[in-house]
Amino acid sequence: MTLAECARLGWEELDVIIVTGDAYVDHPAFGAAVIGRVLVGAGYRTGIIAQPDWRDPSAFMVLGRPRLFFGVTAGNLDSMVCHYTAQRKLRHDDAFTPGGRAGKRPDRACVIYAQMLRRCFKGVRIVLGGIEASLRRLPHYDYWSDTVRNSVLLDAKADALVYGMGERGVLELARGLAAGKEIEELADTRGVVTTTREIRVRDAVLLPPFEKVREAGAFFEYDHLVRSRYEEQVLYMPHGGRYLRHNPPAAPFTTEELDAIYALPFARRPHPSYKERIPAYEQIKDSMVSHRGCFGGCHFCALAMHQGKTIQSRSEASLVAEAERMAADEGFSGVITDVGGPTANMYGMRCRRGMSMRCGRRSCLFPERCAYLVSDHTAHLRVLEALKKVPGVRKVFVASGVRHDLALEDDWYIRELAEKYVGGQLKLAPEHTQPVPLKLMGKPGIEVYEEFVERFTEYSRRAGKKQRVVPYILVGHPGTTLNDAIELARYLKRRNLKVDQVQEFTPTPMTVSTCMYFTGRDYETGARIHVPKGREVRLQKALVQWYKGENRKYVIEALRRAGREELMKEFG
Ligand code: SF4
Repeated sequence: MTLAECARLGWEELDVIIVTGDAYVDHPAFGAAVIGRVLVGAGYRTGIIAQPDWRDPSAFMVLGRPRLFFGVTAGNLDSMVCHYTAQRKLRHDDAFTPGGRAGKRPDRACVIYAQMLRRCFKGVRIVLGGIEASLRRLPHYDYWSDTVRNSVLLDAKADALVYGMGERGVLELARGLAAGKEIEELADTRGVVTTTREIRVRDAVLLPPFEKVREAGAFFEYDHLVRSRYEEQVLYMPHGGRYLRHNPPAAPFTTEELDAIYALPFARRPHPSYKERIPAYEQIKDSMVSHRGCFGGCHFCALAMHQGKTIQSRSEASLVAEAERMAADEGFSGVITDVGGPTANMYGMRCRRGMSMRCGRRSCLFPERCAYLVSDHTAHLRVLEALKKVPGVRKVFVASGVRHDLALEDDWYIRELAEKYVGGQLKLAPEHTQPVPLKLMGKPGIEVYEEFVERFTEYSRRAGKKQRVVPYILVGHPGTTLNDAIELARYLKRRNLKVDQVQEFTPTPMTVSTCMYFTGRDYETGARIHVPKGREVRLQKALVQWYKGENRKYVIEALRRAGREELMKEFG
């Protein structure tokens, strides 16, 4: 992070400089740290400029001009998600910043950082990456401006954009540039978006121009076209006499490749210059990433468009080695707080046909489980057992979300989870109770959730543990009505479930649900659906949290608006 540190390493100049919207935490859960470590591991001298003051050019010049490129990321979160609530209200904290303070990164950080870098270093190469760039790589609906925005590559006037988990793409670009090639010559790199003068690929898909897809009807068609083709074909979109070129995603990592990444010498702590605690770090410092990818395909989640549907798992030996390194740290409490990934119990699972990169289905579980899915939980439990035996490790927990329909396939897995790997509470995401909202979200029916809870509670009781399942609820999803929220609230009330975790739906870029939000149409059938907005979402949330005194007036208003006054008594 400083020239003094570079000098200590004997580096007179840097090959790559990563500019990030997060504080610099050298831990494998932080994207900038992973990319930095991978580049250094491959021999590229890499610096990090973390949370520079975007109004001050000198903040971008502290490490000089890189030989190859600036890598720009907004951080672990999209900057707009980080800054604003679902009601577009400004947040007052930022978990990725020392002291949890808000305001250390700009809105639309990729664009702002890139603008400043071009001002400071004429003609410098800029490569975008990270979640914000990844999910804004093509024209997308942007909730915060309520418009379809162009690819962030074009808005930022950057040279290339690496999407998904970017290790492969970034390394390939670094190698090519170091060998004297230009970005245009590296345009074939998978997982990369660039601009180009001509269509050079046979069998490519020509997308309609940006101006056309700004209208909801055209966007609906465009979104389906992108989603059905991007994994296998190159997409081109005309833009100002050139083309935006989107390549298929980088190949998933093998276990050996993933192990090599997590074996890099992460310090597992924030840069020593920080004096205050970084909330996101405190939360994940003793957790482990066991795998990447998710084949659940929930419609409101963009993870598959970023990490992919293929589960890429680390080996047991790699996870044990990481636990040993954690245990050797004198600050380690003896508790591994989480061993997981996007969905904890997908560790080691795979498609029998080896098809997940090329399969037309968005989910291996919805609307029904695919017969080709190999979904044995044995590997996950074996890893948890092995971690528990590492000297210095007292407890191992699973805190990442568990996909309950999958877990039900292996009853013994639920028993083991309840007996050994849950610390009092298990977070589960039924999201809703009503059939239509659940279908539109791509989630299984509520009876599946109920069955899981029943078994988990019973196994906890037999183990002599008082444990509960905390349901995660989502309100305001496209297609949900006030009546749906009323029935959801009645369901919770009948079971005396007072839920703190109620999320308001946020149409983040590139999800299926976001397309439904913008277009007002069911993604599968094209039929018109109701899209709750503004106050109605507030009312839906109040209904679900009917027990809070401050929600009383909203509950009454919601019941009246829905013509359900007969329920006034029921809601007290
Ligand atoms: S074939 Fe089935 S198991 Fe394989 S990726 Fe497709 S949906 Fe999933």
